[in-house]
Amino acid sequence: MLNIILFGPPGAGKGTQASLLITKYNLVHISTGDIFRANIKGATELGTLAKSFIDAGQLVPDEVTIKMLESEVKKNPNAEGFIFDGFPRTVAQSEALDAMLTKMGESITVLLSLNVDRDELIKRLLGRGESSGRSDDKDENIIKKRIDVYTNETTPVMNYYSKQNKHVAINGIGEVEEITSRLSNAIDNCKTPL
Ligand code: ADP
Repeated sequence: MLNIILFGPPGAGKGTQASLLITKYNLVHISTGDIFRANIKGATELGTLAKSFIDAGQLVPDEVTIKMLESEVKKNPNAEGFIFDGFPRTVAQSEALDAMLTKMGESITVLLSLNVDRDELIKRLLGRGESSGRSDDKDENIIKKRIDVYTNETTPVMNYYSKQNKHVAINGIGEVEEITSRLSNAIDNCKTPL
């Protein structure tokens, strides 16, 4: 299996790139943010709980997020691989993901991190807020809070996978197709045995 973590700050372009890569590599896309938003829309219990954290720019608690992720993976027993987008966001989530994959006889192939500077991120997210209706993209203070949460709580995930020699950094600035080809090159390098 090809199990990819698409990593990067809010607004780095993970969702856009994931949707292109799943077609190219025949993978299942699991975006925790999308699942939370679908639950909010459907007014489920999970949605109500998640909304209070998301609107404040905070992370949804690990216990809830990990349980949800595991059930999504189990819904796809025949998958050739996964792109995890927006997960793991904490070291505890990384450990839970590794443990689950180990049980399946699998592992993470690579963590690809998209690098985009803070000013560009704020610009992109405010732009998305105008068109997407995402409430967490409308307020600059919430956006800054999310970037801070990323820096403090989520970047340790990168170090966690660096220690396993699985971290590859990708320049996230440029045309969409250009970035897709940078990501594809990195994926193809992992597929070729050394
Ligand atoms: P972005 O990457 O643009 O912040 P996402 O759609 O990935 O957007 O996530 C939106 C929000 O959903 C996050 O700000 C967070 O509150 C919540 N969320 C998504 N994934 C996770 C996760 N793995 N752990 C905790 N909270 C999460």
